Amino acid sequence: MSYVDEVIASVKQKNAAEPEFIQAVEEVLESIRVVIESDEQNYRDLAFLERLVEPERIIMFRVPWVDDNGKVQVNRGYRVQFNSAIGPYKGGLRLHPSVYLGIIKFLGFEQVFKNSLTGLPIGGGKGGSDFNPKGKSDNEIMRFCQSFMTELYRHIGADTDVPAGDIGVGGREIGFLYGQYKRITGLYEGVLTGKGLTYGGSLARTQATGYGLLYLTKELLKINGIDIAGKTAAVTGAGNVAIYAIEKAQQMGVNVVTCSDSSGWIYDPEGIDVALLKEVKEVKRARLTEYAAARKSAEYHEGKGVWAIKTDLYLPCATQNELPLEGAKALVANGTIAVCEGANMPTTLDATQYLQANGVIFAPGKAANAGGVATSALEMSQNSERLSWTFEEVDAKLEQIMINITHNIDEAAKKYDMAGNYVAGANIAGFLKVAEAMKAQGVV
Ligand code: NDP
Repeated sequence: MSYVDEVIASVKQKNAAEPEFIQAVEEVLESIRVVIESDEQNYRDLAFLERLVEPERIIMFRVPWVDDNGKVQVNRGYRVQFNSAIGPYKGGLRLHPSVYLGIIKFLGFEQVFKNSLTGLPIGGGKGGSDFNPKGKSDNEIMRFCQSFMTELYRHIGADTDVPAGDIGVGGREIGFLYGQYKRITGLYEGVLTGKGLTYGGSLARTQATGYGLLYLTKELLKINGIDIAGKTAAVTGAGNVAIYAIEKAQQMGVNVVTCSDSSGWIYDPEGIDVALLKEVKEVKRARLTEYAAARKSAEYHEGKGVWAIKTDLYLPCATQNELPLEGAKALVANGTIAVCEGANMPTTLDATQYLQANGVIFAPGKAANAGGVATSALEMSQNSERLSWTFEEVDAKLEQIMINITHNIDEAAKKYDMAGNYVAGANIAGFLKVAEAMKAQGVV
């Protein structure tokens, strides 16, 4: 059996109850197979892949907190410090009832390659909890965040591990987490990113993932001889990534006609009204039915199925495995030109393969949504030098990073005779830097 197949088999056996982690490992190892097999004996002697797929450290902990009725609640907290070969662990915290170890490991593993692709010195990690923030009061959110940080603080630091936001963790939660870290340690340091502007946050961090997605999409289309202006797009999600993807797409002359949340989706042929969407989601924290109620041109559909709408571009920005094979078939039938992932692994493996086989330009999340973590790293730089850059400075750096990533993944795919396969290009380009650093640092 080849070395890659052996390691995939062993990952499946050791992590049988973690399908998302297996999916992520399989996808990465399949696409770096060509690199590994060009020097198989050496990688095998170093047990290189076994080390790559094993997190450096997993921290799991109890998070007790008291709800508004005085009842004690207990959640489970996680931090997976996956790989620190090229820098301190960096990756978000997710608060969602679906969170369990397998989700955090899959996200942490992906983060290693994503962070490498940014060209910045950041290793990969991820964390979170099965806490459900929906319907909780601000005080309950605060008590949860304080309890979570009361354990997490001992494992993180500005030069060791720097968490950020993810699903369910936005500015409010980062504020509560930061306050508790500072209270316990007495340190005013860049230990979290996504902070508010009055206490060390970076301008453009809120917009970064969505904006970055569009910078990459535009460049990728350009490489393929296509102009983004005048195209139509479907976006899924209605959170941080989706909102700012829609905003930047519109600035580029794209008509975005959909968005969604976990209850249903909007079709708005006149184009999503971003100001209204922000009001519904960021201010009122309400459901999309409120968007539909406030806007005549919008239709509300219960459940899933954004892929039924015919558009040139499809930008999934909600969550993992939201775009199944059935959806990919609909997109191909509709003549979709490109699918660029704003969320992490929103497309199932079979759907990805179907899109690629049918000539759809496909940009994987680890490249396409890297703008968020890249700007987090820029926030870390600003914190270290105790300076704040202007919005324009950060945005310009973000755009350049996304353009560089686009060309890196394109060139890596071409170098290994897989031109146009940006999944392979992203995995290979991300892997090579981490591999070189791991080899240089010996068996650790
Ligand atoms: P938010 O919590 O702000 O928004 C998530 C959106 O996706 C909401 O509209 C939510 O709907 C929807 N959603 C969440 N879970 C599900 C589900 N199981 N089924 C259907 N819809 C769902 O998160 P973000 O926008 O920050 O993150 C979205 C994706 O982007 C995630 O995959 C995240 O890992 C990834 N990402 C985020 C980055 C960032 O900087 N924020 C950086 C890189 C990647 P509802 O409100 O109903 O729950």
